[in-house]
Amino acid sequence: MNYKIPRGTFDILPPQSAKWQYVKQSFHKVASNYGFEEISTPIFEMAELFERSSGESSDVVQKEMYRFQDQKGRSFALRPEGTAPVVRSYIENHLGMQAAHSRLYYMGPMFRYDRPQAGRYRQFYQYGVEFIGSNHPFYDAEVIALEMDFLSELGLKKARLEINSVGCSTCALDYDKALREYYKPHLSELCTDCKTRYELRPRRLLDCKVPSCKAFRTDAPSQFDYLDAPCREHFDQLCGYLELMQIEYTINPQIVRGLDYYTNTAFEIIYDDLGAQNSLAGGGRYNALIAQLGGKDTPAIGFAGGFERLLLALEKEGIEIAKPLKPDIYLVLMGEIAQTTGMEILRILRKRGLYAEYNPEKTSFKAQMKAADASGARYAILLGEDEIKENSLLIKDLSSGNQNKIAGKALAEYPF
Ligand code: AMP
Repeated sequence: MNYKIPRGTFDILPPQSAKWQYVKQSFHKVASNYGFEEISTPIFEMAELFERSSGESSDVVQKEMYRFQDQKGRSFALRPEGTAPVVRSYIENHLGMQAAHSRLYYMGPMFRYDRPQAGRYRQFYQYGVEFIGSNHPFYDAEVIALEMDFLSELGLKKARLEINSVGCSTCALDYDKALREYYKPHLSELCTDCKTRYELRPRRLLDCKVPSCKAFRTDAPSQFDYLDAPCREHFDQLCGYLELMQIEYTINPQIVRGLDYYTNTAFEIIYDDLGAQNSLAGGGRYNALIAQLGGKDTPAIGFAGGFERLLLALEKEGIEIAKPLKPDIYLVLMGEIAQTTGMEILRILRKRGLYAEYNPEKTSFKAQMKAADASGARYAILLGEDEIKENSLLIKDLSSGNQNKIAGKALAEYPF
């Protein structure tokens, strides 16, 4: 039997794994600069958490969730997204009692039974942040700024920000009514999913990927015409903050976001060269979610991005983010005594935080020097009978060929 990896998943192998480490580290760094702290939640949760938060009519719940029952018949799901688990944890651990604002970020695998293609997988890795505890539009801008800073920290140039407001539950009612009126004459031409959307959540009609349904989008009423005064003001203030922060944006009234819990600000980071899967990250305000999941009514905003698409975008721009791992120092040891002393040298070098390598399977001087060159090491340390007698070491710079003889005890301080 030849075992195969499940469809829609992938192994992260070297040297690609160094790139993953790099982007993760960069995200830790940028999130910390904004005062966000890491939260890790389980990979599976009660299925009901997602049914309740994402909405029964969402694609995620209807088609994409990996559900399973445990030995006692309880229904669980592999997490399809990170916000609901963070909110579950926020409520369960009373984080709201500890500080007025909670700034949390996470990274980890998410699971959706999606049709795999370039940039779309069944297990994919998201990074995301949640800012919980304020409705001030400054924080909407700050969460967006964090993502934009992360992308520019990595050197990405062509990512674009699109923003929208989906209004609050009051103005959404009027908008849903307007959408139903607009779509009513076309009802028979819509796909089956859209017929359900029409009944349950008309705003999702704008999100349909079926070409014949997509065509109706162009003339559909715009969300903006249905925002009430406070929602309009929130949006205008967000735009003002983005301008002050010198973050470029375009307004796209058709951003609806796939999940039910969004209110007011919705945004997306688009990378045009990625084809059909061109969304690098997306997020928005979800003022209704915490109360919906049983917590105190608390406003919040967050976003999530996908590492796979981010790495694809970095590749498109030819950005080299992690160099292949090469030794700093390669040890060339001639004779039995040198081989013993060499073990002590390896220990000293590694204690100094240097990557040192030695291969006991290669015994001749020529074979060891060849291996040192092939490894790409910056330096070789040569130790033979003469050096042992003098208690010295020969340090060879492998790119220039220059050699430097030092006393054995000087190794701990040598400026490699
Ligand atoms: P969402 O949680 O659907 O708002 O997605 C947020 C981000 O996660 C997207 O912009 C993508 O970068 C990434 N993403 C979502 N679904 C997938 C998937 N199936 N495969 C890879 N990345 C994904």
